[in-house]
Amino acid sequence: MTQAVACAAPSPAATGERWTLRHERGQREVFCGLTGIVWLHRAIQDAFFLVVGSRTCAHLLQSAAGVMIFAEPRFATAIMEERDLAGMADMNAELDRVVRRLLERRPDIRMLFLVGSCPSEVIKLDLARAASRLSHELGDRATILAYSGSGIETTFTQGEDACLAALAASLPAEPATAEPSLLVVGALANVVEDQFRRLFEQMGIGPVRFLPGRRAADQPAVGPGTRFLLAQPFLADTARALERRGATRLEAPFPLGVEGTTAWLAAAAEAWGVDRERFETVVAIPQARARQALGRHRERLDGKRLFLFPDSLLEVPLARFVARELGMQLVEVGTPYLNSRLLDRELALLPEGTAITEGQHVDDQLDRCRAARPDLVVCGLGLANPLEAEGLTTKWSIELLFTPVQGYEQAADLAELFARPLARRALLEA
Ligand code: SF4
Repeated sequence: MTQAVACAAPSPAATGERWTLRHERGQREVFCGLTGIVWLHRAIQDAFFLVVGSRTCAHLLQSAAGVMIFAEPRFATAIMEERDLAGMADMNAELDRVVRRLLERRPDIRMLFLVGSCPSEVIKLDLARAASRLSHELGDRATILAYSGSGIETTFTQGEDACLAALAASLPAEPATAEPSLLVVGALANVVEDQFRRLFEQMGIGPVRFLPGRRAADQPAVGPGTRFLLAQPFLADTARALERRGATRLEAPFPLGVEGTTAWLAAAAEAWGVDRERFETVVAIPQARARQALGRHRERLDGKRLFLFPDSLLEVPLARFVARELGMQLVEVGTPYLNSRLLDRELALLPEGTAITEGQHVDDQLDRCRAARPDLVVCGLGLANPLEAEGLTTKWSIELLFTPVQGYEQAADLAELFARPLARRALLEA
């Protein structure tokens, strides 16, 4: 595979390379990693996320998750006021008090994440050390871990990566005699996990486990017998943490669309020596159903021009899916950063001449988008409203994290996320 690297606007046609890469630096428009709590708390049902942050962090969480109503909340913010270094001992004591009180009052919490943020007074706190100190005292009550959801990281999906990397480092070791097991990594909706579990079972692949497990007590063991498949492309630190535990990553595209799902399942089938005929028999019916369901969206989306702003780190697999299975044309594929180690199989499937931008200079990118007048723009919430006001049609990229989109049965739902804004615009213009 080849790529061109350019700082000025490259011309794919002129370079003749498979895809071109532009690096940009400048102002970025992305959410921080705290956002991940909104879907992570659903994935681990007895976990609690205690953000150690400022009032801004509390506001972000409240507005991102404001529509949810709980009998008991599953996340909260411990607000740290400005202190000098001499006040650090007090801050640690205060944090310990908050955690003790929380665990006393809430016996249902079996896993507690201390989530760091970016205010300077929080950065001074060593939350990993706090988690280990508190585990010493309260470890029989709950697993206590720490990670950063800070806005200093590149983008919002890295909150999940940081959370799962912390979890991966804490997993029990598999017994030396354990049979090879498959670990599916990434927070997925239960319905998606169940579908994948069934397909693997039908192929004779297993035991199959998921990270994160649904409850604190269900977290999988890991070790040299573990082979893992990433279900999300933004889990680079988690992959490294699992590899440090001796696990082996199975290289594959990501399970978006029929083609991605088939190749992802095939990577596990190959590792387990499943014969081609059995594999084809298992996937034939869900594949045919998914292709048929995609057909009606393809009619609407074929030939439509798409501009992806860098936001979720899902952009490259999405671009591959919409171009190859829905016939959309890619104007520009932005990504906060390009991890070619994890995306190698995806990049090889992009259409000839795809223009990828890594990083962001938001004003320059907006200028390019306005000049191109794409049919659809996938971007963060902050850019969507102004672009809509200028007559462009947008889709919020964060919806891709809140909606189950992986696997055969969800392929049409994923396509619908692209089709719906175009249908809405057509109605408005009718
Ligand atoms: S972590 Fe940083 S970017 Fe995120 S809400 Fe808190 S202050 Fe803002």
